[in-house]
Amino acid sequence: MRHILLGISGGIAAYKSAPLCRELSRIGDQVRCVLTEAASTFVSAQTLQALTGTAPRCALFDPDGEAAMGHIELARWADILLIAPATANTLAKLAHGLADDLLSTLYLATDADIVIAPAMNHLMWRHPATQHNVRLLGARERHTILPVGHGEQACGETGPGRMLEPEEIIAALTRAQDHSWRGIRLTLTAGPTQEAIDPVRYLSNHSSGRMGYALAAAARRRGAQVTLISGPTALTAPGGCRLIAVTSARDMHEAAIEAAVESDVFIAAAAVSDYRIENPVTEKHKKDRNGIPTLTLVENPDIVASVAALPDARRPLVVGFAAETENLHDHARRKRKKKRLDLIVANDVGNNVFGSTENAAVLIDDRGETTLPRQSKTALAERILDRITALLEEVHDPD
Ligand code: C5P
Repeated sequence: MRHILLGISGGIAAYKSAPLCRELSRIGDQVRCVLTEAASTFVSAQTLQALTGTAPRCALFDPDGEAAMGHIELARWADILLIAPATANTLAKLAHGLADDLLSTLYLATDADIVIAPAMNHLMWRHPATQHNVRLLGARERHTILPVGHGEQACGETGPGRMLEPEEIIAALTRAQDHSWRGIRLTLTAGPTQEAIDPVRYLSNHSSGRMGYALAAAARRRGAQVTLISGPTALTAPGGCRLIAVTSARDMHEAAIEAAVESDVFIAAAAVSDYRIENPVTEKHKKDRNGIPTLTLVENPDIVASVAALPDARRPLVVGFAAETENLHDHARRKRKKKRLDLIVANDVGNNVFGSTENAAVLIDDRGETTLPRQSKTALAERILDRITALLEEVHDPD
């Protein structure tokens, strides 16, 4: 039975903590609630007591509460400290280590896994101060910061900042306790590359980097040590990853080999430009002076194939992607053999995958093929990591 300490801070989303408590109790978790002062204006102590069987706690210096279970004891009791909803104010307090009420004190005093479900007005969510605090928290060990939903808000405006639904939070709790990748060193490539034509123009592609970043975030959640080698994207690197920002395929190649020889797993999710301009010019090309340019292309190094060709002692388990618009299975199977990959994730990019938050895939390895239906890239990342986990287990235990 998991011991879940549910911290509720004072936002309108606090009304969802009642069904959250009910569902956690129903699936067999033992729940104790801690309310911030503001939260107690949104949700009643009686309701929470009826749902959990225990009176919620609010004040730090509450003699009755302390007599039942002191706050340090409560912090130790918890397997998971779930803070839902977490307001901008609570996020700021946790990020900076303030301990001026019971919830923020418990946060500092516990070694439980921390799961935070933010909820606030979209402008507050987007504010650089909040985003900075989210990154600080996400970089900490054993912390899972859940995404926010997008939609109509209590204030009548629309945007990001809604708290996830109770069932999504409950699914995240189970993942938060999965530390199975602790000790695993993962290097990933992600995003597009840009190949200079002149100082202001380049060759590139539509990759958003989302799949690679989702894999990096999922591996971090499982406790891996992650190096993310990324081409230019609009995304923020998941907290706790070592980010190496690169521009061209050759830069990515160099960074990837250096990191891969120190890694257990290498995932090539980048959409690397196959070609670069042979002689990029150092001055901007001028239409009237230079006329129509002729671009001569030369082949870029194949990063994932170079990693897969490393000598056995330095070779990580290697995973590549195949983005195809036709004959998906055949092309992917052939690509896997040619590049000597342990696993290939094949996806059909014929229909709006680039930039999308969703994708479907076929996983192909020595054992066969598994089709993963269209789902969020976040969920897909979890399934891909599950498959890699199975492959790592086979390496250690080949029978
Ligand atoms: O050959 P293709 O580009 O379709 O192969 C895709 C896979 O190879 C992806 O995993 C991609 O990251 C990787 N790749 C690479 N270096 C290249 C080209 C592709 O690592 N130059």
